[in-house]
Amino acid sequence: MSQGPADYRPGMRPGCIRVSRDLREDTMRCPFCKNDDTKVIDSRVADEGQAIRRRRSCVECGRRFSTVESAVLSVVKRNGVTEPFSREKVMRGVRRACQGRHVAEDALAQLAQQVEDTVRASGSAEIPSNEVGLAILKPLRDLDEVAYLRFASVYRSFDSVEDFQREIDDLRSASSESGKASAESVKSS
Ligand SMILES: [Zn+2]
Repeated sequence: MSQGPADYRPGMRPGCIRVSRDLREDTMRCPFCKNDDTKVIDSRVADEGQAIRRRRSCVECGRRFSTVESAVLSVVKRNGVTEPFSREKVMRGVRRACQGRHVAEDALAQLAQQVEDTVRASGSAEIPSNEVGLAILKPLRDLDEVAYLRFASVYRSFDSVEDFQREIDDLRSASSESGKASAESVKSS
C-alpha cells in the first residue's frame, strides 16, 4: 500500500475513526468488573477543545471511570514510519537546543502547545516530520535566538559559516523591523 502524501482519498483519511455506527454500540468495558455495559454520565470538553473527557458509570458494579477522546495526529518520519505526535518529544528536542540558556520549562510547554496547534490547524491527520520542525522554528525564534540558531543549524543542516551568517542577518533585520517601522528597508533585488 502506497503512503505518499498525494495518496489522499476523500472519506479515507488515515488516522480517523469511523463513527457512523450507532453510538450506543460504543460502550466501553468496565475496567473493574469487565462488564460490557457502561454508560456516560458526564461529558465535557477538555484541553481547550482538543479532547472530550467522559465520566462513565458501570451498570453492573456501579463504579466510575473516565475516558478521553481526542483526534489522532500522526507524524510521518523521513523513513516513512508513522508515530503519534508528542508534545513531550517536541519539548525534548527544543530543550536540547536551549541548554545553558535561561528558558523555563513553562515556556517549553507553551511552545510545544503552539506547535501542536499549528500542525493541527493544517487539518491533516498525518503530518510529515519536517513540518513539525518548521512549526517549531518560528516560536523558538521568538523565545530564544541562540537556541533558535542551534535548532535551525541541525534542522536545516547548516554546513558553512555563511549559512549561520545568513540566518543571523535575517534575525537582525527581523528585530530591527519590529523595532521601528521603516519604509526604507524595502529590498529591490
Ligand atoms: Zn463494573
